[in-house]
Amino acid sequence: MGLKTDILIVGSGCSGLYCALQLPRDMNIIILSKAELEGSDSYLAQGGICMLKDESDYESYFEDTMKAGHYENDKKSVEIMIRSSRDVINDLVSYGARFRRDENGDFVFTREGAHSHHRILFHEDETGKEITTHLLEQVKKLPNVTLMDHTTMLDIIEKDNVCYGAVLRLKDGTLTTCEADNVVWACGGVGGLYQHSTNFPHITGDALAIGKRHNIELKNVNYVQIHPTTLYTEKPGERSFLISESVRGEGAKLYDKNMQRFTNELLPRDLLSKEILKQMKKDGTKFVWEDLRTIPREEVESHFPNIVEKCKEEGYDVFKECIPVVPAQHYFMGGVKVDYVSKTSMDQLYAVGEAACNGVHGRNRLASNSLLEALVFARRAAADMAEKRNAIKKDPELFESVDLSRYEDGAELKEEYGEIIAEEMKEQEDVNPVGAKAEMRYEPCSIQ
Ligand SMILES: Cc1cc2nc3c(=O)[nH]c(=O)nc-3n(C[C@H](O)[C@H](O)[C@H](O)COP(=O)(O)OP(=O)(O)OC[C@H]3O[C@@H](n4cnc5c(N)ncnc54)[C@H](O)[C@@H]3O)c2cc1C
Repeated sequence: MGLKTDILIVGSGCSGLYCALQLPRDMNIIILSKAELEGSDSYLAQGGICMLKDESDYESYFEDTMKAGHYENDKKSVEIMIRSSRDVINDLVSYGARFRRDENGDFVFTREGAHSHHRILFHEDETGKEITTHLLEQVKKLPNVTLMDHTTMLDIIEKDNVCYGAVLRLKDGTLTTCEADNVVWACGGVGGLYQHSTNFPHITGDALAIGKRHNIELKNVNYVQIHPTTLYTEKPGERSFLISESVRGEGAKLYDKNMQRFTNELLPRDLLSKEILKQMKKDGTKFVWEDLRTIPREEVESHFPNIVEKCKEEGYDVFKECIPVVPAQHYFMGGVKVDYVSKTSMDQLYAVGEAACNGVHGRNRLASNSLLEALVFARRAAADMAEKRNAIKKDPELFESVDLSRYEDGAELKEEYGEIIAEEMKEQEDVNPVGAKAEMRYEPCSIQ
């Protein structure tokens, strides 16, 4: 006998958790995480989360988002995100999330690359952990939610473009099915498919591969963001450690091999990554230098304590010397195509957060817009599911005929999914190239 629930949320990052919190309490919810519940990229977010401070910043915030996205952004999605930001932040604060405040108790805002103004809320350099810890804490209090760690969605169960549930591998390795009125893909980006990424390695774009196999519409699949500055390491297989953009926002400088500045450090990420890669090629080096000594010491100590600590572990004293940095895969602007309430092209299936593409980021994401986007559109998905709860289709017979044997070889399935995504990315890149690229672990391979 398989599992049964009203809502199956695949992913325990900020989008999945917030979606659960926004759903009615009389709906039964299962939340899955492929790893431990805290094993999500949401925990890794350093820089912060944008908020519309007041009406006077609306035009500028909108324009910065559009410009960073090369004006390919969906304008309505951008408007929804910006206009909803205050409500989302109010929710986070009500859950206990702390953002830096001044002596009067007012929010303090920082700035990152391509932002014209200070409009980013932060908690030290661990904003994502601060937010997600409090979301998880709240979710754990809900009697209608079951959290399942180390449980993987391997496929969905669908018929005639309606989703009825999923195939899962449980913590003990058992394969089973889960019947659900709605499935929500909150399974993050694609970093695990890359040789060098700031993401957790288990976050491998599973929704994309499964979506492709079931003819679900995808969008901008080759729009992958390379972060310009991650700490260079010779250690193989390590997750790339991010040197947050707000470090440059606060005044850090980049130098070539001769310790000369070679670019504007506050260019949008895609353009800055290209400049750095160009400089590395010209100099014949594996990294460029980043100098944090240009920021007042107290600011570095209070704003970036974890970056200081990590650099120290790697043998660099940021107060005395420059650190080596190199671009690495970081974020996925593309994803499973969704509408303004996060519904995919398949009925009863939603996608939120980095797994989804509602067009908000266009070709390139503006810094600190992703946590916000993930939360805003997860909330909209929850509202839509609640509204449509009486119009759900069910097909229990479908579950009697599911052949679980084809999911037994996990390694083979992982390889197959990686190759499907690599192929899709290659095809899209041939049609509409984005330029700066990172090396993947998988070779493209057509669906058999
Ligand atoms: C180092 C770093 C720094 C960042 N800094 C910022 C920042 O300062 N500001 C900002 O706005 N954004 C930042 N981002 C981006 C932001 O953190 C992410 O885009 C966002 O947190 C994604 O949230 P999510 O809920 O979509 O997915 P995630 O938080 O990545 O969660 C994905 C979840 O899905 C689960 N999962 C995946 N596949 C499966 C499967 N098949 N079955 C079951 N479970 C599965 C995972 O286990 C995980 O629980 C940063 C990202 C990184 C990596």
